[in-house]
Amino acid sequence: MVEERLIGDDGLREDGRKPDQLRPIKIEAGVLHNADGSAYVEWGKNKVLAAVYGPREVHPKFLQDSTKAIVQVTYNMAAFSVDDRIRPGPNRRATEISKIIGEALEYVILTHHFPRSSVDVYIEVLEASAGTRCAGLTAASVAVADAGIPMTDLVVSCAAGKADGQIILDLGKSEDNLGEADVPLGYIPRTGEIVLLQMDGHLTKAEFEKAMNMAMNACKDIYEMQKDALRRRYAVGADEDKTPTQEVIE
Ligand code: ADP
Repeated sequence: MVEERLIGDDGLREDGRKPDQLRPIKIEAGVLHNADGSAYVEWGKNKVLAAVYGPREVHPKFLQDSTKAIVQVTYNMAAFSVDDRIRPGPNRRATEISKIIGEALEYVILTHHFPRSSVDVYIEVLEASAGTRCAGLTAASVAVADAGIPMTDLVVSCAAGKADGQIILDLGKSEDNLGEADVPLGYIPRTGEIVLLQMDGHLTKAEFEKAMNMAMNACKDIYEMQKDALRRRYAVGADEDKTPTQEVIE
């Protein structure tokens, strides 16, 4: 059997990227009229939409907390988001991703300002090609800011990992499937705090540190893209209540 190689002799990856290069990322804020806040992220072949409602009444009511708002995240991959149709509805993976994204967002949202209420975040993955939890958290963070919900800062997310014995940034689909490790990170660049950290696979301590540094540096670049998306949203909104998407359609 011939082993599939993920990094060529020229040091470049399958899609032509250098080891520390991100896939192309595009972020738009305020793309949905009917949500309090929203964002759309294209990240390589991933297409992810985030919608935020609240702070609003808690459903179901028994979840209410008299001291702070709760953050409820629903991550969902659309049935048509991958080659094989996904069975609709919740599953273990979606429940796990919703939980970790919720915990990361809860860390930055000033929840104690809104007791007995809920911030509801819906993340819809329209197309998936590895790294959807990172794209989802990055989008959700912009959508919460777009909703005007007070936060200490934006959260950024990006993964690093290992393939063909090399530490690489932002794993693509085959690197995720065939590589040796994947480490998604949720990060607050201004304070250096880590709010999400998972690891699939094995890394030595030195490799782990290299992967973390690579992901943290990339997060700083993505943070600028998030802020730029919010700035553009306000610039458009200053004239008229138009979303960027609407402008393109018109
Ligand atoms: P992430 O999307 O955050 O990297 P995973 O590592 O669990 O999360 O998934 C990697 C990729 O595998 C996804 O982005 C998606 O492209 C694909 N994938 C995940 N779940 C399914 C599924 N049920 N059917 C087909 N492909 C899937």
